[in-house]
Amino acid sequence: MPAAFIGHGSPMNTLEANRYTAGWRAFGEALPRPRAILCISAHWLINGTAVTGMAEPRTIHDFFGFPPALFAFQYPAPGAPEVAREIVEALAPDYVGLDGDSWGLDHGTWSVLAHVFPRADIPVLQLSLHAGKPAEYHVALGRKLEALRRRGILVLGSGNVVHNLRVIDFRRPEFAFDWSERFDAAVREVMTRRPGEIASVTRHADYARAVPTDEHFLPLLYIAGMCEAAGEAAHAFIEGCTMGSISMTSYVLGAPGPREATGAKASAAGLPDPRQVPPDDTNL
Ligand code: ZN
Repeated sequence: MPAAFIGHGSPMNTLEANRYTAGWRAFGEALPRPRAILCISAHWLINGTAVTGMAEPRTIHDFFGFPPALFAFQYPAPGAPEVAREIVEALAPDYVGLDGDSWGLDHGTWSVLAHVFPRADIPVLQLSLHAGKPAEYHVALGRKLEALRRRGILVLGSGNVVHNLRVIDFRRPEFAFDWSERFDAAVREVMTRRPGEIASVTRHADYARAVPTDEHFLPLLYIAGMCEAAGEAAHAFIEGCTMGSISMTSYVLGAPGPREATGAKASAAGLPDPRQVPPDDTNL
């Protein structure tokens, strides 16, 4: 089973059709059907690592100021309590709490899955981000999660490599600040060549502007750890920055289909080549 980090951007992507959501749909169509999906969303940041263990996770609308249609959206995928216990065991001796009723599926998860698996008929779990831990902790958990690929579990990180809401320009969907593109490129260089060194990008000159708070960046570390454990680099299957300070760049480990020897620049079979998907001016 592949694993992926997806740049999710605005919650409105749930309801829109643009070049990013087209990429998410193509990704879903190229995947084998997972037994379950474990999503590591930027939007579940707590003081501990926990996994949702309920049979029927609720759809959480964790934002404000969006249209009623977005608050009405439901993603009624089942949970999988037995898979939650497998994940607790896979991450031991690191402690992972079993969440019975406090969380569910937040928009970091369902805004993407609305396109990757629109039928909502595959069990979905979430893993929280431990706010008090350094980058190395998240990478190490990712290394352990790699074994889940052989159990048919799709691990999805959902965040954004660059995410700075203080300077965001909602009117310019195709605009990127130079520092935003620089940091996105630096991360791409590491993810597609030596993903085990991902923590080094926290020392990049543009890190503080690109990652003013790290909740959207942390899910990437799990996928980097999975790449390291697999001994494989990731492939950037969607590329681009939007609204100045948001990167939508997405990475896959173990993409289905043959891959060209050049790896980083090649587009995996079944996935769109990011350079050939035309820009869409209706994204936000
Ligand atoms: Zn977000």
